[in-house]
Amino acid sequence: MLRWYRSQIREHGALDATRLLWRVGWSRTATGLANKLLPEKISCPCCGWRGRKFYDYIELGYAVRHTVCPQCDSHARHRALFLWLNQVYQLKGKSGVALVFAPEKALASIWNNTPQLQVFRVDIEPARSVNLLADMQHVPITTSSVDLLWCHHVLEHVENDRAAIRELYRVLRPLTGELIVSVPMEIGTRTREYGFANKKESGHWRMYGDDFADRLGEGGFMVRTVDYHLSAADCERYGVTREQFYICQKPDTSRS
Ligand SMILES: [Zn+2]
Repeated sequence: MLRWYRSQIREHGALDATRLLWRVGWSRTATGLANKLLPEKISCPCCGWRGRKFYDYIELGYAVRHTVCPQCDSHARHRALFLWLNQVYQLKGKSGVALVFAPEKALASIWNNTPQLQVFRVDIEPARSVNLLADMQHVPITTSSVDLLWCHHVLEHVENDRAAIRELYRVLRPLTGELIVSVPMEIGTRTREYGFANKKESGHWRMYGDDFADRLGEGGFMVRTVDYHLSAADCERYGVTREQFYICQKPDTSRS
């Protein structure tokens, strides 16, 4: 918590960081009490934690209620993707080369259990058990050589996301390769560019809207919209909200 508080002071100054600390502390104390006193209702598939309520995720500019696992820090989308990768996508049976951008701690056990997949964890910083330091706008990988690209809630952190999409397209293997991608989106709006990394929104350069899929298509991808395939009961049990994401493929350009 102290390290987090120091980083907030660096980002926002002492006054705003202290206000944020109070909000987070109060919210977590209340949630902790609910988890101690009330019967279990929910569970986390990533780590097995069970309880009454997930923590709220609170930033200066926004908050997401009931989303952070008290034990493994998974958010709603991590839990949903964990289930989708296991039950629907059958990741364990995939083979080839995978690039996992900004690898999520909550999904590490899944990526560590893919015997036929050579997984490279990619980030611009050396934390997160990264084994390839790289910027998504300049990926040091041979063209058309990657079978699986994993890119969830990353593009909003990239200044030139169109350059990053072009790089993802370049490295993906045509026809059989898949890019699995999502971003935070406001449904019913069009993408709003901030022109700077917005510190009040976790450093996001933009808020995506319904046209995000068009942006992927402009990069050359064939785009398919998918969802988690979870029932309403599972969404409640795992603290997940329905969210769409995308599977993109690269056509066989050698014939054109
Ligand atoms: Zn968990």
